[in-house]
Amino acid sequence: MIGQIIDGKAVAAKLRADVLVAATNLRARDIVPTLAVVLVGDDPASAVYVRSKTKAARDAGVEPRDHKLPATASQAELMALIAKLNDDPTVDGILVQLPLPRGLDSDAVIRAIDPAKDVDGLHPTSLGYLAQGKPVVQPCTPKGCMRLLAEVNAEIAGARAVVLGRSLLVGRPMALLLANADATVTLCHSKTRDLDTIVRGADIVVAAIGRAELVRGEWIKEGAYVIDVGMNRTSDGKLVGDVEFLAAVQRARAITPVPGGVGPMTIACLLENTVEAAARRRAR
Ligand code: NAP
Repeated sequence: MIGQIIDGKAVAAKLRADVLVAATNLRARDIVPTLAVVLVGDDPASAVYVRSKTKAARDAGVEPRDHKLPATASQAELMALIAKLNDDPTVDGILVQLPLPRGLDSDAVIRAIDPAKDVDGLHPTSLGYLAQGKPVVQPCTPKGCMRLLAEVNAEIAGARAVVLGRSLLVGRPMALLLANADATVTLCHSKTRDLDTIVRGADIVVAAIGRAELVRGEWIKEGAYVIDVGMNRTSDGKLVGDVEFLAAVQRARAITPVPGGVGPMTIACLLENTVEAAARRRAR
């Protein structure tokens, strides 16, 4: 059996087109959905991410506002900027590009964001509602993974789902989203024993560990759904996921490639969260 390769680029393009329609409807009512993007320091990778978020925002009818602070910025300066953005009624979403330069406390910065403008879904209030199974803005990458599972009609209720990685950014919220959708979830991490046995029993595998092809193709149960969040550079510069794709695709019912799977979904979900935040705050 050769699995379906889930085209994340196409799904993300469809989502961005839906966001553009929603943003255009808001603009017709003089509401310009606006995303403040905060970049501290001059890390080249962060600058690239911010540029692509800014461009994607514009293309989807979301107004990006860049706020750049030097690497020497103090915690107080950054907190003052967040407070200003919280108070600005024309700002719907606040995104702080992580990681922050050393010496700055990113937890404190995220806590300072008004939860109504937390379009990344990483504020403790947002994650708390998610843990309670209440409707709330969902963290972008796990939300994108759920969307990809929906795209291939994966049956989640009652499925055995295994999430590899327990970061606050991906693994933990992913496990909560799957549990909220009635999957039976196992959350694995670096201390998990017998990882292969656990993966072999999974109907749904979401890998978010950041270890090139650690998940061997032979571990994948026949007919399982595989979502590969990992992005790893090999020594020859190639981008690969956490799953051994070429072997896994022989067994999976559907699987995301790297690149072109989960990656494009993250920004599309961020823009969707921003337009939804604008509608909630301003279009009542
Ligand atoms: P992270 O914060 O470094 O977390 C990695 C997790 O993997 C940790 O929970 C760690 O366990 C676990 N882990 C590490 N080695 C393991 C092993 N050998 N077996 C089982 N678990 C292991 O990483 P992250 O931010 O969640 O990102 C994970 C990957 O996703 C990275 O490759 C990243 O680049 C990628 N990513 C992609 C997107 C996208 O949009 N496509 C977005 C975010 C992240 P412990 O908790 O025990 O340390």
